[in-house]
Formats: sequence, structure tokens, C-alpha cells
Amino acid sequence: MALSLPQKELFHLPEGVIYLDGNSLGPMPKGAAERASEVIQNEWGRELIRAWNTANWMALPQKVGDRIGRLIGAAEGSVVTGDTLSIKVYQALAAALMMRPDRRVILSDNGNFPCDLYMAQGLIDTIGKDHELRTPTPENVANAITHEVAVVMLTHVDYRSGRMHDMAEITARAHAAGAVMIWDLAHSAGAVPVDLAASNTEFAIGCTYKYLNGGPGAPAFIYVRPDIVTEVKPALAGWLGHDAPFSMELDYRPAMSTERLRVGTPAIVQLSVLDAALDAWNHVDMAELRNASVALSECFIREVAARCPMLKLVSPNNPAQRGSQVSFAFEHGYAAMQALIDRGVIGDFRAPAIMRFGFAPLYLDEGDVMRAAKIIEEVMSGELWRDPKYQVVSRVT
Ligand SMILES: *Cc1c(COP(=O)(O)O)cnc(C)c1O
Repeated sequence: MALSLPQKELFHLPEGVIYLDGNSLGPMPKGAAERASEVIQNEWGRELIRAWNTANWMALPQKVGDRIGRLIGAAEGSVVTGDTLSIKVYQALAAALMMRPDRRVILSDNGNFPCDLYMAQGLIDTIGKDHELRTPTPENVANAITHEVAVVMLTHVDYRSGRMHDMAEITARAHAAGAVMIWDLAHSAGAVPVDLAASNTEFAIGCTYKYLNGGPGAPAFIYVRPDIVTEVKPALAGWLGHDAPFSMELDYRPAMSTERLRVGTPAIVQLSVLDAALDAWNHVDMAELRNASVALSECFIREVAARCPMLKLVSPNNPAQRGSQVSFAFEHGYAAMQALIDRGVIGDFRAPAIMRFGFAPLYLDEGDVMRAAKIIEEVMSGELWRDPKYQVVSRVT
């Protein structure tokens, strides 16, 4: 049975905070500290190295992958966790390029999170075979899928504007042109319904510390379409992606499953915390979550537009084209966000001038949105952001 939302009682939400930044770092689930303590004290502390078997640490990357898979329409065994999203971008891209050895173009878009583009640029330099990264605007990317393109690598929901690509449509266009598709679900997993199996994409990747609430540095995930797993050549041929790591063979022989995209020893404490965080999703119906997310976002846009004419909506107006975040452009956005955070409304800022607010229906309701809108109005109409203390830029924005 689906639970009704929100489920605030499952999270530690500090008194006086309205948390609109779960798209960047989800809040701490109630079971997280207990699980970390259990793993550290009992499993590591008492079992020592035996815990790889007795606590089944070795199977955890796959087990947690399967739990994420259920939220993104992926079949059992097709998602594995580990490393960081940056690494998973590299793995998926390297494997995709090896599947199209006669093509040289990686197609992404200029709205993508820069890290994904940096990883592509680094990989191109490493390969040294004149590959080229193309980054048209998100609106033009579908028309840029030509027969030269080896791989289309896109982030489903834009980290700045929240604009959402049409996954089914673009994947079909990529396949029609003979290209391999990679979807980055960093701002989609746990935020919008995703059906990877139906999309037919070859690869998907994502992180787990955003809407999935796995905690800072929680392991990333990678999906490989089941029918191509044995075609996938791992560029990072780590021993735990080997078919038989403990046979200590001198030559690499990849596992016959998605586990070939494991690399080295998994971060067990962090992975266990993620496992505990995923308990919050056990009875969540993604369609219901999406309805709640749209209702919260629509309410926020309506309230902020009515109260703060100086803020310009940069997210799509049509909720069907938007993920679970709402962004406004404002010249003094950094200072304004600092003033909001000081008053308990936590969002974040993205250069050059974007104030970003995420809506996670697991722990937010309409009362939170209304209170946040009122505080935003106070800060904006009173120009409270002009205080010099809000002008000092921190290392993380
Ligand atoms: C959050 C995010 C990342 C971050 O990658 P990490 O390796 O986890 O630091 C990368 N790509 C996209 C699209 C993101 O949204």
C-alpha cells in the first residue's frame, strides 16, 4: 500500500528550517546514524574481516543497486552502486565509445552539469583518437543527433533550470541514428518517475546523496541494459569487477553481470547508510510523489511570482517539462540566498545568478512552501540581502 506524503517523521529536520535543498544534499534519515553505528561497532568492530561474508558486505553494492533500480524502472540485477557519479560518467562514456569504434562524436548539451563535460574532455584526451565533444543548446540537441554521433550523453533534469528532457523521444532519436544513449539521473532518481527499461537506453548513471538522501559522498549508481552487459568493456578494470576476484588471475576477465562495472573496495559504511536511507522509499508510489512534487512547485511559483516581481522564473512554466526544482534569476542571487538561509529557508545558488529551490515531497508540505514564500518576500521587498555579511562568498555555494 502506498503511504501518504509527506513522511516528515522519517527525517531529522532541524527546528526552524525549511529545507529546499534536498536536490543538492538530502536530509538525514532517522535510521542513518543507527545503521552507521551498527556497521561500525558490530560488523567492523566485532566481525572484523569476517564481515565481508558474515554481514554480506560483498553483496551490498548489488543489493543497494536493486533497491534503486525499483525507483527508476530497472530490472533486478541491472543497477550496481559504487564510486562517485564522476567515475560512473567516465565508465559509461568509455564503454559507449568502445561500442561505436568507427564514430568520433560525443553529443551532450551546454546545460549539462560541467563535471559530466569535464569527464568527457578528460576521456577524449586519454583516448587520443580525435574524438570531439559537441554541446549545442538543450533545445537543439535532438536535431544534432547525426550519424557521426557515437554517444548521446545527457542529464535528464537540468541542474540549474530544472528543465527536463524527453527521455523516450531523445533515446529513440539516438538509436535511429545508431548512437548509444547515456542518461544522467542525478536530479531525477527519487524526484520524477523514470522508466529505464521502457526507454531502452543503454546506460544510466546517477548519484544518491540528492533526492535519495544517502548522505554526503554516498556511492553513485550505474545501470546497463541487460542485453548488452557482456558487450560492455570496463575501462576501469578493477579487481571487484573481475569474474572471480579471489582467483587472483593475472589477466582481467569481467564479471558476466552488471558487477563488471564495480571497481575497487566499496565504501561499506556509506553504502550501509544509503541502504538505510532507501527504507523511506519502501512504500512510495512514484506517480503519487510526482503529483505532490508538481503541486508543491506550482504553489511555490504562484506565491513567489505574486510576492516578488523582481525574481524571474527560469524554470519551465509547464510542470510537465520541469523536474522537482524551481529556479529564479536575480542579479544579487548569492546574497539573497545567504539572507534566506539566515532566516531558515535553505536553498542554494548556482552561478551566474540563479537561486535554486528543490521540492522533495517526502518531507515537505504546502505549509512549508507558504512559509518559505513569505520569508522570501520579506528578504526581497525589504532588500535584506544588502547587508554586507551576505556578500561574502563561501567555497561551496
Ligand atoms: C551532482 C552531479 C554530479 C556530481 O558528481 P559527483 O561525482 O557525485 O561529485 C555530476 N553530474 C551531475 C549531472 C550532477 O547533478
